[in-house]
Amino acid sequence: LKVLLTGGSGFIAAHTLAVLLNYGHSVVTTVRTQEKADKIRAAYKDYVEKGRLGFAIVPDIAKPDAFDEAVKSDPPFEAVLHTASPFHFNVTDVQKDLLDPAVIGTTGILKSIKKNAPSVKRVVITSSFAAIVDGNRGLWPGHAYSEEDWNPITHEQAQENAMCGYRASKTFAEKAAWDFLAKEKPNFTIATINPPMVFGPIIHSLDSLENMNTSNQRILSTCQGKFKDEIPPSGVYLWVDVRDVAEAHVAAMEKEDAANKRFFTTAGHFSNREIVDIVRKHFPQFKDLPTDSTPGGDYPEGGKDAVYSYNNRRSIDVLGLRYRTLEESIVDAVKSFQAVGL
Ligand code: NDP
Repeated sequence: LKVLLTGGSGFIAAHTLAVLLNYGHSVVTTVRTQEKADKIRAAYKDYVEKGRLGFAIVPDIAKPDAFDEAVKSDPPFEAVLHTASPFHFNVTDVQKDLLDPAVIGTTGILKSIKKNAPSVKRVVITSSFAAIVDGNRGLWPGHAYSEEDWNPITHEQAQENAMCGYRASKTFAEKAAWDFLAKEKPNFTIATINPPMVFGPIIHSLDSLENMNTSNQRILSTCQGKFKDEIPPSGVYLWVDVRDVAEAHVAAMEKEDAANKRFFTTAGHFSNREIVDIVRKHFPQFKDLPTDSTPGGDYPEGGKDAVYSYNNRRSIDVLGLRYRTLEESIVDAVKSFQAVGL
C-alpha cells in the first residue's frame, strides 16, 4: 500500500517504518525538520532511490492545518499511521506541551484526510494503555484490563502533574478520534494500538544517550548505575516490545477485521526488579548495578496477583501477534544502547 507515517524519527515509528518497508509498502514519513529526514534517508538510501520512501516536513502537529499538504500524494495514500505525539515529562504547560499536540494532532490529521485524501481507507492511531488505565483504582487486583476499559480522567485532573497530563493527552486524543468517526462518517475506518510501557532496541537516530526515549530510560538508568542504592517503583506493571508494537500497527493497517477496533497490545507483567535482574545476568560488567539486597523495584506484597492483570486476546486473534519475552527485549535494548555509546 501507499502509506503516510507520522513522526518517523520516533522510537516506535522507526520500527514501524522498518516493518512497512520490509513488507513491501511504499511510505512517506513526516518529520519535524529536514535534518531528521536526512538521517532517515541515509539509513534507507536504497528505498529512497527506488521511490519507496519519501519525506514530508511537519514541524508542529499542534497546528490545526499541519497535515493539509502532507496527506496529498501521487499516487494517493491508501492508509495513514499516526504515531506522532509528545511522550515526555519536561512540561511547563500541560495544555500547550501535551494536550494540544495530542488532540489537535489527531483531529487535525483526520480532518486533512477527509478533506484532501479521499483514497485513504484505514487510519491507525498510536494510542496507549494510558487511555485504558483508571488511575483512581490504583493496583485494582482481580481486574483484567482490556479494550473495554477507558481512562475516566478529567480535564481538571489532567492539570495535576506531567504524568496526569500525558495520560489525559492520550485519552482525549483517542476519544476525539472515535468522536470524529461517529460524527463525520468519513470514507476510512480506524484502528487504535494501545500499548503499555514499550521497551526494546532503538533504531532511530539518537544524538546522545541523554535523549533516550521516555519508556527506555529505566533500562538505561539501570545500566548507568543510577539504581545502585534503590530501585524506583515500577509505576506501571505491564509492558510490550517495540518490535511487536510495530507489527501491530502494520497488521492493523492490513487486516480488514481490524476496522474500528482498539487493540490492547501487551506482552504481560514486568517489574523494575525483573529488568535489573536481566541486566545483571547478561551484562555483569556494568558498574554499580543493584544487588539482591538493594531495596525497591518489586511487585507489591503478593506479587503479580496484587496488581491488575490483562486480556490481550484480541491482539493475538485479530492481529496475529506473538509477543517477545522481557529478557529478549531488555537484552536487545541494552545492546542497542552500547552501539550508540553506552
Ligand atoms: P518518541 O518521543 O520517540 O516519539 C514521539 C514522536 O512524536 C517523535 O517523532 C516526535 O518528534 C513527535 N512529536 C512530538 N510532538 C510533536 C509535535 N508537536 N509536532 C510534531 N511532532 C511531534 O516516543 P515513542 O516512540 O515512544 O512514542 C510514539 C507514540 O507512541 C506516541 O503517540 C506515544 O504516546 C505512544 N506510546 C508510547 C509508549 C511508550 O512506552 N514508548 C506507550 C504507549 C504509547 P521529535 O522527536 O522530532 O520531537
